[in-house]
Amino acid sequence: MSPHQDHSSGVRLGEMDAHSYQEWVRTEKTCVFIPVGAHEQHGPHLPMGTDALLSTIISESVAADMHAKVAPAFAYGYKSQQRSGGGDHLPGTVSLDAEALIKLTRTVVGELLDQGVQNVVLVNGHYENYQFLYEGVDLALADLGLQKSGDRAVLLLSYWDYVSEETLSKVYPDGFPGWEVEHGGVLETSLMLHLRPDLVQMERAQNHPAAEFPRFDRLPVAADRTPASGCLSSPAGADAKKGELLFGQVVEELSADMSSEIEL
Ligand code: ZN
Ligand code: MN
Repeated sequence: MSPHQDHSSGVRLGEMDAHSYQEWVRTEKTCVFIPVGAHEQHGPHLPMGTDALLSTIISESVAADMHAKVAPAFAYGYKSQQRSGGGDHLPGTVSLDAEALIKLTRTVVGELLDQGVQNVVLVNGHYENYQFLYEGVDLALADLGLQKSGDRAVLLLSYWDYVSEETLSKVYPDGFPGWEVEHGGVLETSLMLHLRPDLVQMERAQNHPAAEFPRFDRLPVAADRTPASGCLSSPAGADAKKGELLFGQVVEELSADMSSEIEL
């Protein structure tokens, strides 16, 4: 096993000067990744910025492979929901409402495209965000009159959709509990142990059965349905080796997909 090596040098838009950016956009085929996360409690053992940290490191690795750039992450996300993130009532979680997330996406994606960036890729790391990102992208394209297929496009994905069945069976030898309850569980904890072990406190992790919820949402939430840890499944069994496997497999397949979809 090898610790994660940072390949991000040169890919961060926020570390680039504007004149070089203008030159890049004017003279090359361009692609900008936007990592998307949330500020959300992840139990006692993971940091609140986990979702943005993971989508950022994944974006940086893929972007470095394909000579793309990575914009600063959206560090706040849509409201944490009880059945997928423990709930918005939990202290530490600070969320945007739908209107704000749609508007943020519409504005930032729209400005990048308007400045001549040809491809934008939103890499989502927080379950609840997806449809609001989709809406923001759709409105940005409409604002610019780009609804018809042309040389500019926006791609949108959640990174866990790249985890293969084969990887899943290795990471969860006793059976996969499902993506909805993968909040503060084995996947996120393993990835963090590989990528940012300095931010993980395994000695504080709590072992409990995966949360079981009714098939409906209730508002206001019945707070006691969320496990006291704030995690929806146990991180027991998470390790850096699983994180290395997950990260390597996701980055490889995501890079291949993006490289074949986007011509740079
Ligand atoms: Zn998370
Ligand atoms: Mn989340």
